[in-house]
Amino acid sequence: MPGWGPPPFVTDALVVAAKSPATAQYAHPAGAPALRSAVADVYAKRMQMPIDAERDVLVTVGASQALALACHALVEAGDEVVLLEPAFDIYAGAVAMAGGTSVYVPLRGAKSTSTNASELTLDLSELSRALSPRTKMLILNSPHNPTGKVFSRAEYTALATLLDERAPQCVVLSDEVYEHLVYDCDHVPFASVSASARERTLSVYSAGKTFSITGWKVGWIVAKNKALMRQLRIAQQYVVFSVASVLQEAVADALLAAETPFEGFPTYYEWLRARYRRKRDFLVQAVADAGMHPIVPDGAFYVLARVPDEGPVAALAGAGFPPALEEMIANGQIEIDPGTRDSPDYNLCRNLTMGKGVAAIPPSAFFCPEHREGNTLAEKYARFAFCKEDEELEEARSRFLK
Ligand code: PMP
Repeated sequence: MPGWGPPPFVTDALVVAAKSPATAQYAHPAGAPALRSAVADVYAKRMQMPIDAERDVLVTVGASQALALACHALVEAGDEVVLLEPAFDIYAGAVAMAGGTSVYVPLRGAKSTSTNASELTLDLSELSRALSPRTKMLILNSPHNPTGKVFSRAEYTALATLLDERAPQCVVLSDEVYEHLVYDCDHVPFASVSASARERTLSVYSAGKTFSITGWKVGWIVAKNKALMRQLRIAQQYVVFSVASVLQEAVADALLAAETPFEGFPTYYEWLRARYRRKRDFLVQAVADAGMHPIVPDGAFYVLARVPDEGPVAALAGAGFPPALEEMIANGQIEIDPGTRDSPDYNLCRNLTMGKGVAAIPPSAFFCPEHREGNTLAEKYARFAFCKEDEELEEARSRFLK
């Protein structure tokens, strides 16, 4: 999560919202009118489609709850949900809790040396084989966590055509929480690529990454399909009922203010992108200097880095389960999932954290258990994050090199 707070226009909006008596009470279950109206205005431009604030927008407790809601409201026992692997770990959990079955299709193309995220591809014939009349949903994520891949309009258009042919019943849940964090390309909302994509897609967004307020937990779904939206709204009413009014009012103001000049940039979003791009370039170089092979991300704020076969980082990967952790477990200080005890990437990340003081996420968490063993992308990489202050990134670099 971002290592800094939100910009002043966001906190100022919160102070104003907190002083209004109206925000002390429940908001409308579909979302505060001010936020729905701001979302409708802003996304009509971005998605190039008319968006009705009354009908097409639903506010949620962050994108996480939007994803869980969509699964709970739409997926029934026996339904299949297709995930592109590696997949953000929350998806498989939400599908399982709804009684559905996840079906995995891999992103291919990671090289043994440095790879650009745009070289990762989804093989449409593999996706086609994974689709069936039981496919209820396909979950997409662009910009992608953990690889930083950003799907192009051409890729998404071909995918939309395949769904038309092979799975016309399939709902697309499109997780676009990193929409503004794109570096050498444009973000393409899946719903914007064709008329049928528009009909079948629930587009999920979050204020968390955009305004550096992950702790606020405010997200929203944009969907043109009335029947799907009705099911989501009913389920939302019985679980969450209503999202924090005061936060919604503040985010509504922030969405409008973000389109005006900020810190010498034409908009806040351009400032944000420039800041993240610099940090991306720095961390990509830092992991390369440490002898690792990065997947250079085109979006989001992660760098997946491959451990080379030799050198100091390789030694950490080969060191096995750290003895110091053994002690902490014996003392009852921590618990671990016993299934991860011998996992190479978990042990690499444990040793990086304990030995170098640089924490990373083990990518096998983004694969189903059957696809972890022997899978290079799952076992030979670590996921670093560059949403950190420059001094912290510099410190990480020097610790890598020690
Ligand atoms: N989707 C993806 C791909 C994410 O990486 C995250 C946060 N790590 C979320 C959704 C969750 O977003 P929120 O904080 O708004 O619940």
